[in-house]
Amino acid sequence: MFRVSAQEIRDSLTLRWQTALLVAAVCAGAVGLAAAGGAIIARGSAVRAADRELETLATTMADRLDHHMFERYREIKNIAAFPTLQQIWERDPDDIRRTLELVQSSLPEYAWLGFATPDGNVRSATKGMLEGVSVASRPWFVNGMKDAAVEDVHDAKLLDKLLRSSPEQEPFRFVDVAIPVRLPGGKLAGVLGAHMSWTWAEDVRRTVLSAEQAEAGADVWVLSRSGEVLLGPKDLKLLENTKMDAGVRVFTDPTTEGGMRTAIVPTKGYQDYPGLGWQIAARKPVAVIYAPANYLVWQILAIGGAAVVAATLVAWFVAGTVARPLQRLSEQLDSIGRRSDATSVERQHGSKDVLHLSSAIRSLLRRVGAAEAEQQSSSSTIAALKLELENQAKASEEKTMRFGADLHALRILADTDSLTGLLNRRAFLPYAEDALSYYKRYQRPFSILMFDIDHFKRINDTFGHAAGDDVIQAVGDLISQEIRNTDKFARFGGEEFVLLLRETDAGIAADLADRLREKVADLRVPTGGRDITLTVSVGCAVADETGRDVEDFIQRADEALYAAKAAGRNRVRSFRDDRTHDRSAA
Ligand code: GH3
Ligand code: MG
Ligand code: MG
Repeated sequence: MFRVSAQEIRDSLTLRWQTALLVAAVCAGAVGLAAAGGAIIARGSAVRAADRELETLATTMADRLDHHMFERYREIKNIAAFPTLQQIWERDPDDIRRTLELVQSSLPEYAWLGFATPDGNVRSATKGMLEGVSVASRPWFVNGMKDAAVEDVHDAKLLDKLLRSSPEQEPFRFVDVAIPVRLPGGKLAGVLGAHMSWTWAEDVRRTVLSAEQAEAGADVWVLSRSGEVLLGPKDLKLLENTKMDAGVRVFTDPTTEGGMRTAIVPTKGYQDYPGLGWQIAARKPVAVIYAPANYLVWQILAIGGAAVVAATLVAWFVAGTVARPLQRLSEQLDSIGRRSDATSVERQHGSKDVLHLSSAIRSLLRRVGAAEAEQQSSSSTIAALKLELENQAKASEEKTMRFGADLHALRILADTDSLTGLLNRRAFLPYAEDALSYYKRYQRPFSILMFDIDHFKRINDTFGHAAGDDVIQAVGDLISQEIRNTDKFARFGGEEFVLLLRETDAGIAADLADRLREKVADLRVPTGGRDITLTVSVGCAVADETGRDVEDFIQRADEALYAAKAAGRNRVRSFRDDRTHDRSAA
């Protein structure tokens, strides 16, 4: 499985990229949050406004229908009870017809007005329609015989054939008002009935619904008490919400694509008109309600997006300025020891930290210079000693032999790490340089392994410094025993070791490194109390064309070692140009 750790990603990005990406991510997150919040708030208030609008629409429609019905109800009632008309009911049917036609002409929706005697026969009617026909079984007549009555919307029965001008015409629908007519003595003379064409409800709907509302997809419908559609599309499925006799209800109807915000308002009747229990539904598509809120979100995203780009650009330039002195510093450091004139770095400006860093490095380089000078003087002491010894050697063969041995011992002393008896760094480098010149001239491969004891500080802290020394010695002994005598093993200081492997390519070097790592993990270093166990991390570098000098290969081994540490320690990593590769894991 291919896994990249956060640390590896960060190590592969410059400070400038990291800063710019971080700023971009934070800003984008903030813009996303603002857009989401804006959407919630704006949608909420849009829905509240739409609810008020729909409720007002439905209430206006309900009031108009109630008032209109009340006026018709009162009109018919007045005619039935009008004292001067009381004499005509039992007289000439023509008189009654003329009176009824006069009333009909006052309002276009009166489709039929008629007077039926108690036996159920129509005595007089507008335009003579249905005169002599029996309406004894029609509900309006049956109920009108008892008391003032209104009948809910229904299809025309007897009148349908008479009114219809062509077979394609829609069936007529009526609302009926029926009032009992009494003579001066109180005797029942018959029933006065009026059929009103239901088309007036459509006219009311048109006046209530504004042009903008209709354009936005809003609509108003009328439902009967039982939920049947009296005005509106027949496929309306609001039964569940219309059955309840509750007051005003506002909800989102999910049966329509995208949802419909719906307000239902019941009619209540008016004065002595009792009402028919109609419910008015006003509707508007949710998508239309949300549209302004969605537009707002797009605006936030557009402005926010521009802000993200601007902030990222600013971060890019600022981070570039911050990182520049650091880059200069590392370039100058890199040339020290490679170019004869490069011995120190320039003081860098740009921030307090950079200034501090550059002066600390300058001070370090001065101290290193002093130490080198001291080493040189000891070398010259050795040279002087050698000279003197040589002089003395001339004096006597025996003396020469003895001093020669002393000289050899001194050399060994200068090249040896006192704790482990291994080579020190100074003595190691000439071997590595020799290997490199063989590689350059004859392509003889070599590899460099860098070892570092894991968590050595803990060993010191737990068992004491002397036990720590024992551990360093034990590791040195162990590895020395495991290698060929053409390989060179050195202690580079602290708990760090370097191994030069001649005639060894990358694969063999990594295998050997892993074997040595396992041996160290099996090692037990005795102390007064319990045995110390430990592990090492190993970095490998192999000779290639791109390395400029020995230090380059040592540095590569060190980088691979660092990667092995970062990957969890007790493992081997090899350096390759682009990255370091894991060889094994514990
Ligand atoms: P890591 O796994 O990251 O390498 O952890 P570490 O604790 O080994 O870290 P680091 O390499 O920084 O620590 C090295 C320690 O070794 C610091 C120093 O006190 C100790 N040390 C250095 N030289 C000697 C020595 O000659 N003898 C002993 N006993 N300790 C030493
Ligand atoms: Mg260590
Ligand atoms: Mg160390």
